[in-house]
Amino acid sequence: MLVDSHCHLDFPDFAEERATIVARALAAGVGRMVTISTRVKRFQQILEIAENFEEVFCSVGTHPHNAAEELDITTDDLVRLAKQPKVVAIGEAGLDYFYDKAPRDAQAQGFRAHIAAARRTGLPLVIHARNADDDMIAILQDETGKGAFPFILHCFSSGRRLAEVGVALGGYVSFSGILTFKNSAELREIAKDVPRDRLLVETDAPYLAPVPHRGKRNEPAYVAETAKVLAETIGVNQDEIARITTDNFFRLFSKMPRPAQQGG
Ligand SMILES: [Zn+2]
Ligand SMILES: [Zn+2]
Repeated sequence: MLVDSHCHLDFPDFAEERATIVARALAAGVGRMVTISTRVKRFQQILEIAENFEEVFCSVGTHPHNAAEELDITTDDLVRLAKQPKVVAIGEAGLDYFYDKAPRDAQAQGFRAHIAAARRTGLPLVIHARNADDDMIAILQDETGKGAFPFILHCFSSGRRLAEVGVALGGYVSFSGILTFKNSAELREIAKDVPRDRLLVETDAPYLAPVPHRGKRNEPAYVAETAKVLAETIGVNQDEIARITTDNFFRLFSKMPRPAQQGG
């Protein structure tokens, strides 16, 4: 069994055929999906999707792009919403200096509120980091100093040092379809050095479809292509990469019950 640790099933790209997309994932051996919140104001919609499908779980949080619009969302709000049985993570939150869609101080403020929620709930924080390595490292070190919290550097595409610091602070590193791109040799070198018990895979669907679907709409079934490249990268076979990433997933997303029929 494979797992898609990060997708966006609420996006309009999937509106017409959500059930088909989930069925296609299950047929491809992708047994669990986490649909990730980008706006707390749309949380009910996400929760509904998770409640409609046994295999789909969700997070609660504000994407850094939307940070300025949701500065009124407090840690208490996040903690309260995270009590829903289908919520297994906080986020995605973090810093995105590539698009800079929200002022950087608003991104940092929102990010720290989410960190506090992860610390209080014990749920993993899904971290979005883009072109913000130095500030991300500084905040992670500062906040971890106040008390550890579980986290995942999602859709990892940052520099080696952020991966190393993340791992040293107890974090997990999740690779998306970017890992399969021809020009991602440097990223594959970083993946090789992430300890095996910290590796995860994701799609970030509908974005970033892996080769050979690159450029098309992504969907959770395609996480198998990223897992395949990750297996080749670290030198294990297909069964082994599924076992490694799925074990890591259930250890990190510990609120999610592990399916009883779990096999090889
Ligand atoms: Zn993201
Ligand atoms: Zn995302």
